[in-house]
This record gives sequence, structure tokens and C-alpha cells, in this order.
Amino acid sequence: MDSLVESGWQVYTMLLSKCAYACICLVRLILVCGVVHRIGLLWPLRACCFRSGSISNIITALEFLLEALVYVWHMNFVDFQLACIGSFIVHETVFFLSGLPYIFLERTGLLSTYKIQTKHNTPEAQGKCIAWLLFYHSCVNFPLMLFSYRVFKFMGMRSSFPLPSWKVVSAQILFFFIIEDFVFYWGHRILHTKWLYKNVHSVHHEYATPFGLTSEYAHPAEILFLGFATFIGPALTGPHLITLWLWLVLRVIETVEAHCGYHFPWSPSNFLPLYGGADFHDYHHRLLYTKSGNYSSTFVYMDWIFGTDKGYRKLKALKET
Ligand SMILES: [Zn+2]
Ligand SMILES: [Zn+2]
Repeated sequence: MDSLVESGWQVYTMLLSKCAYACICLVRLILVCGVVHRIGLLWPLRACCFRSGSISNIITALEFLLEALVYVWHMNFVDFQLACIGSFIVHETVFFLSGLPYIFLERTGLLSTYKIQTKHNTPEAQGKCIAWLLFYHSCVNFPLMLFSYRVFKFMGMRSSFPLPSWKVVSAQILFFFIIEDFVFYWGHRILHTKWLYKNVHSVHHEYATPFGLTSEYAHPAEILFLGFATFIGPALTGPHLITLWLWLVLRVIETVEAHCGYHFPWSPSNFLPLYGGADFHDYHHRLLYTKSGNYSSTFVYMDWIFGTDKGYRKLKALKET
């Protein structure tokens, strides 16, 4: 356990130093914007933001800022650093920032009326999850990112100008979500067969009352197996690095939300048709592995088509009557 804590601490200090470096880069970006401003090129940004409030002008302004950001990172890093270390930092930042607030809610009892289950996780169980996550992220996820970089690069991934249009980015992200959900559904069903559940997938189901961070708590073999579902879309299309990072951010936020253990009035499943969300996946965690159903990661239609959401729909109908 000592060595585990030690390696966790090493990853933590490494992340801190990376964050400090990211801050330095941000300061550089601000300085570049300042130089651009001094030579009179910032006027389109000001014009976009303040003279007219239309959405297309705001998008133009955001594109301008994004281009400045890409310009700065190209001055400081090579492709490999951006795609591997950059993706790792983006993943860790979004994962812990989106997951830790749910631990705070569970410990303080805040917003408990929206908690799906009445059971709570002990601080020891939460601590154990975080320690293993730090270990898995550095020893499994990071090498997986190094490997997938070669594949993405081979398929044409780039991080340079010109930036992709919003239409291309949106279409690719939608494709990534659909293909990920399809592959995850079948992979997850296979993991619920007797031998694989007992030896691999039971690790993820250790937490019958999930909280945001348990979304990535799994056996290393499962991380590699289901990680394939996340990477298949980008591997097939070779997207721009901006698209890859946006996909990473949205996928992490989605899976953390699905495991958060809370169903709020503002939860995305209340507004997005076909989206599963926390209530859908929480059901999967609290039932016996042979009876659980709800195998999809993001959407509900795969379980509906193959009839693996019957128990969940029956329970939901009962609650509503
Ligand atoms: Zn499962
Ligand atoms: Zn889960």
C-alpha cells in the first residue's frame, strides 16, 4: 500500500508541475494576445464581442482565441508532446474536476434529496478508489495514450493550421459518440458473462453505489478492452487534435455524470432525447450482474432494441404510477 501511495504522490506532484507549466503557457498566450493587440489585429475580436451580440460573431471571436492558442502551443511543443502529455493533462484535469464535487456532496449530505440511492460510501472506500485511479491512470491509461498516438498519427491526425470547421468537429464528435456506444454495449455485455464478470468486470461493480470517480475504476484489462470503444472513432477518422480533446472532455464528463449517483432537475437526461444518464446507469450498478441490463454507455436505444432495459423500464413505470 505504501508503494501505491508513493506512486500516487509522484503522479500528483508530476501533475502539479504540469499544471504550473500550463499556467506559464497561458501567461504566454495572454502576452501574445497583447502583442497582437498592439499591432492592431485584435480589433475583429472586439468588434465581434461588443458591437454585435449575434452567436455567429461570438463563434468567430472564439475561433480567433483558439487560433491564438494553437499558435502558442506550436511555438512551444511538438506534436507528440501535445497529443500524449497534453491529452493526459486534459483527461486528468476534467476527470478530477468533474468527479470530486460528487464526493463533496456525498460527504456533506448537500442536495441529498436528489441522491438516487440511500446508501453512502465511506471515506475509506472513496480514498481507495482515488489511490487506485492515480495508479491506473499513470500505468495503464497513459501508455494507452502513447500507443493510440501512433494509430491516430497514421490515420492523419494533425494539430496544425487550418483548424477544422465547427461542422466537421460536430459531425465527428457525433460519430464518435454513436460508434463508442455501439462498441461499448457489446463489449459490456461480453464482460457480463460469468468468467469475465468474476475475473474482470466485478472490479468496476465493487461500488454498487457509484460516485463520479468510480466511472474509471476498473480492472486494467477492462480499461484496455473498453478503452478501445473510446479510441475507435478517432482511430478511424484521424481528427484534428482540437476535436480529439473536445471528444475526450465530453466523454469524461458524460461517464462521470452517468456514475455520479444523483439525478438533478438539470441533469442532461431530462433534456436530451435518447441520452441515458445517471439514473439509467445507477440501475445497472445496484442489481445483480445477471439481471442488471442497461449496458450502453451514453444512449438508451441499444438496450431498447435488444430488450436489455426491460427491468429498468418496468421499475420506472412503477415509480411513475
Ligand atoms: Zn457492468
Ligand atoms: Zn459503471
